[in-house]
Amino acid sequence: MTKTFSNFIGGQWRAPSTGEYFENHNPADQRDLIGRFPASGVADVEAAVASAQRGFAVWKRTPAPARGDVLRRVGDLLASRKEELADIMTREMGKPLAETRGDVQEGIDTAYYAATEGRRLFGHTVPSELANKWAMSMRRPIGVAGLITPFNFPLAIPTWKAFPALLCGNAVILKPAEDVPHTATVLVEILLEAGIPPEVIQLVHGMGEVVGKAIVEHPQVPVISFTGSTETGRFVGETCGRMHKRLSLEMGGKNAQIVLDDADLDLALDGVLWGAFGTTGQRCTATSRLVLQNGIHDTFIDRLVQRAKALRLGDGRKAGTDVGPLVNAASRDKVERYITIGREQGATLTLGGERATGGDLDHGFFFQPTIFTGVTAGSRLDQEEIFGPVLSVIRVSSVDEAFAVNNGVRYGLSSSIYTRDVNVAFRALQDLDNGITYVNAPTIGAEAHMPFGGVKETGNGHREGGWEVYEFYSETKVGYVDYSGALQRAQIDNY
Ligand code: NAD
Repeated sequence: MTKTFSNFIGGQWRAPSTGEYFENHNPADQRDLIGRFPASGVADVEAAVASAQRGFAVWKRTPAPARGDVLRRVGDLLASRKEELADIMTREMGKPLAETRGDVQEGIDTAYYAATEGRRLFGHTVPSELANKWAMSMRRPIGVAGLITPFNFPLAIPTWKAFPALLCGNAVILKPAEDVPHTATVLVEILLEAGIPPEVIQLVHGMGEVVGKAIVEHPQVPVISFTGSTETGRFVGETCGRMHKRLSLEMGGKNAQIVLDDADLDLALDGVLWGAFGTTGQRCTATSRLVLQNGIHDTFIDRLVQRAKALRLGDGRKAGTDVGPLVNAASRDKVERYITIGREQGATLTLGGERATGGDLDHGFFFQPTIFTGVTAGSRLDQEEIFGPVLSVIRVSSVDEAFAVNNGVRYGLSSSIYTRDVNVAFRALQDLDNGITYVNAPTIGAEAHMPFGGVKETGNGHREGGWEVYEFYSETKVGYVDYSGALQRAQIDNY
């Protein structure tokens, strides 16, 4: 029997007001139906907001260390259900179990970090410019936070948003991506089991154009955090701008790994294989471009092609699988379109370029690891996010040219450089226009206690992770206490 899942609204698991559901299938095997999930409507969002406001009234008065204690228990529960969650995630979005275990671990790390932040959440106390006057800042919760998340990190990204939002005292409405509703459901179960007051968390499943849009447009949701494509982010940003909402955007990327002539080539090979084909190229930080210096270009390509050919495609739940399927048919269609575009624009298809078929692969959205060489800077393969297992190789003759290629795109999430020259490494940290630069490591591998995010059209200046995200989810309030017993006028009486 197919399982039917619910929303969590108003402190209860509830059917959607629409009475409609969508099906969630395993992308590695379309015959495997995971369940039916609510295709919610605007009325469900209305109910969620009303409930979250009641939850907020209680939660904002709960001391931050006590909120942190709840999140510590969340971390413990995630740890105890790590294998189960990894399996659920791989089944609904395809990446291999080693990667989904890492996804859960990121959630655990984020929970424990949030727990400790409950005992910090620092304000500042500074000297006043006037005698007998106290000047300090403190952090206050804001209200209801609407969190809209993508499919590729089904647990980690919701936790990056929800845990700091909750720790700061906000109530949360989570709208997970349509491809990964099961993982989000278990996350909410865990939050409740850990002791979060029921109306503090709401889970509303459904389509982005309906549920996501209704959350973004709701006047009683003053905080929106969105991770997804730059195109959807533009709509979210326009609406939030008009409505004066606090907004964090994490969007697309076109990340490059640079390999210079003096690099450790074995290390650089391991890095690009993991960066380009891990998560089937569907990470926001995936290595989409490989920038090779002339001297090592041909040798590196030969070795890379041999290694990429050996990657084993298959069901991520089976031992030995290196690369899982794409998440859905639309993603596979998009990758196929870029194969045509690459050829039309004169790049050389050196490996792959087709659906991976045969045996069990016929039932899923598998695509061969693909390498285009001879890609020119400025072409569409160099410029546009593909979000699949497609690596575009660009040949350069100098460090300056490599940096220019890295920076010559509208995105700016992650970059990587392989070199043994310490001067060049530090120049890269200074001059590459990205939110994250790795030296002698691939473009992927963010750690939960460090700020995460990108520049240019990847983000809007905020960061997730680390200490910075707590500033996004709290409002700074300043308090002055004048204990002089007289009127003291700042900037006037003291100068
Ligand atoms: P997407 O933009 O299609 O969807 C993201 C979320 O937005 C989903 O929950 C979706 O339902 C919702 N949505 C869709 N239309 C909406 C609307 N009109 N209003 C409100 N919400 C709406 O992205 P995706 O395919 O799930 O994820 C892939 C994209 O996410 C890639 O571009 C990738 O680079 C990006 N991404 C970025 C980061 C980062 O941190 N920079 C991390 C992961 C993924």
